[in-house]
Amino acid sequence: MNVQLRNSSSPRTYYLTEEQQALADQAHRFFFSEFHHLNAQMDETDNLPPSVFPKLGAMGYLGLNVSPEYGGAGLDFTSACVITEELSHASAAIGLSHVAHDNLCVNNIYRNANDVLRRKYLPGLCNGTMIGALGLTEPGAGSDALGSMRTTAKGDGDHYILNGSKIYITNGPIADVVLVYAKTSPEKGAKGISAFIVETDTPGFKVAQKLNKMGFRGSPTGELVFEDCRVPAKNMVGKPDGGVAVTMSGLDLERAIVCFNATGISRRALQISIDYAKTRQQFGKPIASFQMVQAMLAEMYTEIEAARSLALHTAAMCEGLEEGEGGRGEIHKLTAAAIFKAAAATSFVLDRAVQIHGGSGYMRNTEVNRLYRTGRVLEVGAGTQEVRKLIISGELLKN
Ligand SMILES: Cc1cc2nc3c(=O)[nH]c(=O)nc-3n(C[C@H](O)[C@H](O)[C@H](O)COP(=O)(O)OP(=O)(O)OC[C@H]3O[C@@H](n4cnc5c(N)ncnc54)[C@H](O)[C@@H]3O)c2cc1C
Repeated sequence: MNVQLRNSSSPRTYYLTEEQQALADQAHRFFFSEFHHLNAQMDETDNLPPSVFPKLGAMGYLGLNVSPEYGGAGLDFTSACVITEELSHASAAIGLSHVAHDNLCVNNIYRNANDVLRRKYLPGLCNGTMIGALGLTEPGAGSDALGSMRTTAKGDGDHYILNGSKIYITNGPIADVVLVYAKTSPEKGAKGISAFIVETDTPGFKVAQKLNKMGFRGSPTGELVFEDCRVPAKNMVGKPDGGVAVTMSGLDLERAIVCFNATGISRRALQISIDYAKTRQQFGKPIASFQMVQAMLAEMYTEIEAARSLALHTAAMCEGLEEGEGGRGEIHKLTAAAIFKAAAATSFVLDRAVQIHGGSGYMRNTEVNRLYRTGRVLEVGAGTQEVRKLIISGELLKN
């Protein structure tokens, strides 16, 4: 059953201003009509239609937090979050590619790069003619991304020479630029990391493979390899060996905004479960008339509201986070808690959504099955649930 949009607005909440709510409502309508119908084919082919990024750019949905001076939308962080939620509600895969481009890559460049780099890269990234990615994770460096990092960047005159590989990189196979972390002073361990903007047509850069995922299909994920890849020294973002500050503050914002990929997906799962429960008949009645089905719907709703409220509170606390701030203290703890809750709530909701759909939920070509395969990774990607708990308890037990 292809359930169409039942209401044409984003859920009302105390946390949003009228302007933010209007942006969310507009995004809700636009994304659903433009992107929802692409999902089945994206799941089948695992390709992102080339029209998606230019369309997002033309409608002003790229560079959400970037000043209009560089071609961005100049919105506050909460607005970016609710737009992310609506995009993920309409298409989880496009929502993931968008957040990797717009938050992980573009926002990190905007917050940390000098004016020359901003002027060179941001306009194209904001109008959708260029696609961005962020390369941090490596085959041997996941949860311990900084400590175990093996990719190196060795100074050579006015260039750095990058060697190493990055894995599970969202948009990696289609990116024009990748914000890459590499060790410039390996002897300093995690304190010897720098960030670089790498253009993907640079000799020595290659996409080693496009990875075959269980969910989020259509959002391409890849392994990237750097073999004597010469990157201009002026493409360094932030200071030499200053990569930790760029990463840690960026990761807090990433955790905060990824909560909304989660709530977008779980809201959609609840919506199609309600519709299915009202229309599927057993024992001569809609299954929605059975109290055990009603209980599942009630629990799903409650989990989503709890996760969404914490996520919106966290987004508000991220407003105006200065360069270098984050990566420690209250905001570090709160963003980890918000994504921990949002990911757990999503897994709970998706599990119940499949249950309500019965056997049809187990069939690969149903929307609920696609969402179920997709949402699971929110407990792993952008840092695992275990690492999130380590961050929270680490902050609670400090001093
Ligand atoms: C779809 C997808 C998209 C992604 N996109 C990007 C991207 O765009 N850019 C990017 O850089 N990365 C990306 N990643 C990588 C992602 O951030 C990592 O997968 C994640 O950080 C976990 O690393 P890992 O997979 O190596 O798992 P591991 O670190 O090997 O963890 C394996 C298990 O061990 C547990 N574990 C590890 N250390 C501890 C500990 N100290 N205490 C307790 N338990 C522990 C983990 O919690 C987990 O359960 C993506 C991943 C996926 C799946």
